[in-house]
Amino acid sequence: MTRVFNFCAGPAALPEAVLAQARDEMLDWHGRGLSVMEMSHRGKDMVGIAERAEADLRELLGIGEDYAVLFLQGGATAQFAAVPLNLLGGAATADYVDTGQWSQKAIGEARKYCDVNVVASAQATRHTTVPPQETWQRSPAAAYLHYTPNETIGGVEYGWVPDVGSTPLVADMSSTILSRPIDVSRFGVIYAGAQKNIGPAGLVIVIVRRDLLGRPDPRTPAVLDWTLQAKNASMYNTPPTFSIYLAGLVFDWLKRQGGLVAVGEQNRRKAERLYGYIDQSGFYANPVERASRSWMNVPFTVADAALEKPFVAEATAAGLLYLEGHRSVGGMRASIYNAVGIDAVEALIAFMQDFAQRHG
Ligand SMILES: *Cc1c(COP(=O)(O)O)cnc(C)c1O
Repeated sequence: MTRVFNFCAGPAALPEAVLAQARDEMLDWHGRGLSVMEMSHRGKDMVGIAERAEADLRELLGIGEDYAVLFLQGGATAQFAAVPLNLLGGAATADYVDTGQWSQKAIGEARKYCDVNVVASAQATRHTTVPPQETWQRSPAAAYLHYTPNETIGGVEYGWVPDVGSTPLVADMSSTILSRPIDVSRFGVIYAGAQKNIGPAGLVIVIVRRDLLGRPDPRTPAVLDWTLQAKNASMYNTPPTFSIYLAGLVFDWLKRQGGLVAVGEQNRRKAERLYGYIDQSGFYANPVERASRSWMNVPFTVADAALEKPFVAEATAAGLLYLEGHRSVGGMRASIYNAVGIDAVEALIAFMQDFAQRHG
């Protein structure tokens, strides 16, 4: 097999041990003579797989019993609509922070259902900063405040959790969940698409404080209705069973790595190493203010934009995959999620050094 390192922003690298286990169990899960994909979602085996996945996620993140955990479909994008539909409760306004493309997508979707009050925008710095909370202009009528803790495209991450008092805090954690410990009790709702740091595409996880259930807009589609889905243990309709199974294997793997304290320490080291190299290289640059640099998505540029194409082509030939920046921003981007080890970061830096020497 060709040895490659996968820096894709999503769907992203999965732990090799997890893939090997899924392969070993593919045709005959635990001696049942069939694959997980072929099991009834209402049968004892699949219900058990889903319950174990939920229990392990609860343990990893320290999720209290006052929160429901939902395994749904439609990606984070479906949740952009589900958030206002489930949380407005008759209110006309919600607060949103604009730190880049994903927060803007969430804002655009919410505008179909309510007046969006943009409390702050990082547009003036071309989305290379996080607006300090002192500058936020919140609406007293807002039903909730939504923000994007990690902007996957811009590589901008909050190093802090906003303090919004009794207003429910809603976070799109698609590209940062499970990358370090968090205090779930600070949040009203956390949601995350699976294909960055959890598992395969097709699954989105919603963690919602139970007191926020029970007031969906009556027009809410059943599949987006958190109250209905919580009552039915996410099995109101057929859930993405194989993605849930694989996510469960990833949670188990994370526990074996030592949990999120150990994983967070590893991620901090990976990020420090890569940013450290970029900053002192005199050849590459990262545009994000230091305090807001993402641990998971590291965009970088070269002074001569004509070198971007050769960089990506040569990197790909060397087995370093998906280093092109998002099609909207150009440049390069290395996504270094949990399953991307320090060995991948070292291989990337070695390649970057060599490329800089040849083209510098
Ligand atoms: C990838 C991503 C999304 C979109 O996820 P889909 O599963 O494609 O809907 C939303 N928000 C963030 C922060 C992301 O990284």
